[in-house]
Amino acid sequence: MSSKVAAFMEHVIAKNPGEKEFHQAVQEVVESLMPFLDKHPIYREHKVLERIVEPERLLMFRVPWVDDKGEIQVNRGFRIEMNSAIGPYKGGLRFHPTVNLGILKFLAFEQVLKNALTTLPMGGGKGGSDFDPKGKSDLEVMKFCQAFMSELFRHIGPNTDVPAGDIGVGGREIGYLFGQYKKLRNEFTGVLTGKGLKWGGSLIRPEATGYGAVYFAQEMLSTRSETLKDKVCLVSGSGNVSQYTVEKILDFGGKPVTLSDSNGYIYDEAGIDREKLKFVMDLKNVRRGRMKEYSDKYKTAVYTPIDPKMDYNPLWNHKAHCAFPSATQNEINGKDAENLIKNGVYVVSEGANMPSTPDAIKVYIDKRILYGPGKAANAGGVATSGLEMSQNSLRLSWTREEVDQRLHGIMKAIHAQCVEFGKEGNYINYANGANIAGFVKVADSMIAQGVV
Ligand code: NDP
Repeated sequence: MSSKVAAFMEHVIAKNPGEKEFHQAVQEVVESLMPFLDKHPIYREHKVLERIVEPERLLMFRVPWVDDKGEIQVNRGFRIEMNSAIGPYKGGLRFHPTVNLGILKFLAFEQVLKNALTTLPMGGGKGGSDFDPKGKSDLEVMKFCQAFMSELFRHIGPNTDVPAGDIGVGGREIGYLFGQYKKLRNEFTGVLTGKGLKWGGSLIRPEATGYGAVYFAQEMLSTRSETLKDKVCLVSGSGNVSQYTVEKILDFGGKPVTLSDSNGYIYDEAGIDREKLKFVMDLKNVRRGRMKEYSDKYKTAVYTPIDPKMDYNPLWNHKAHCAFPSATQNEINGKDAENLIKNGVYVVSEGANMPSTPDAIKVYIDKRILYGPGKAANAGGVATSGLEMSQNSLRLSWTREEVDQRLHGIMKAIHAQCVEFGKEGNYINYANGANIAGFVKVADSMIAQGVV
């Protein structure tokens, strides 16, 4: 780490103690930016770095609700309104027991740069709660969502802050949140994205993050005159992003062989085909079951439970060409990255946010593989949320083909920005490219708007 980066990080760590994921995300970006900032002193003069790591507003609130047994439960709610230089705050809500301030600040910070890359006018935010929807009845989920929105509604709006889904927040939760917002405000607006198709949602929004990550991989491969056809792909997670990643890999003629959840993973050497994917979608979205059931049904698959004592994840230790980490942060460490490369992987397209640790990223870049960081590769989700906002404002619904075409065009544009800012000789450092391209758009807008 250079002395300038170290000095800046000392300031960030002292001001935000204990928020290790936030420190990690900031450091990764600042390391990319420092040589660029040295060449463009205007950003230092305007203290853009110091301003951009400080949320514009931070909300933290009590969420009390009553469970099915009549007992009072108390969760904590958050909304980080990180940066509105280029548009209203925009970013998902995460409901997961691990949620805390540091995790949401890392996600909000990444979101600012990601949203800038999408070419659409959206600022960055993130929010959520330590509520765990797993094992709760539909009624309990509804009561929690209503209690959460009973506070959040006064801080958000279609021109102020537009939340969406993330881990633990899918169509069911967005429906309950939207219903409560509408009741409290007495207005029907595009205040949330990821809505149902019959009440203001956009076609392709559920598919967008996974599809986008695969489009991005395809763009990276095209720089080497290759395609995804016949490529063996490792995919982690089994939620929204993973399911549509698998679907698009199949569309392009690739072969997905793994999926996981927080208990373990399946390796299906024969490939996860459309029929098996349909089973996974029903298992996860309707029956809300566990991945182990996949190997009970399909004998070509081997299930391996998670062993927390291991210092690597065996999912990343199979022969393959591409990896699509699509579960959660820090799911690939340095050893996993070494294993990926040893097994032939030379494309990593991140569906999840910050799934690779700094050690893993160093391995990818040292080995010169095609590495698409989350803020570029998974930006298709928020980009399509932006398209949902446009349709709501126009009071129109575009066709599936139209939205998909726009999504594909946006992923190509994001790729082109990464190439423009990330070219190092004949290697494209997509991490640097994404960080610098996103930063320049936000920073120039902040400078133009004065010290606010
Ligand atoms: P879902 O809740 O639909 O699925 C998450 C999946 O990851 C589940 O299979 C879950 O397993 C697994 N998972 C979650 N936490 C952990 C953990 N700590 N360890 C192991 N497995 C875990 O979420 P999404 O698919 O929406 O989100 C996945 C990732 O993609 C996240 O990093 C999210 O921030 C990112 N992302 C999502 C976007 C979207 O549009 N939804 C947009 C951009 C990024 P289990 O069921 O056992 O918890």
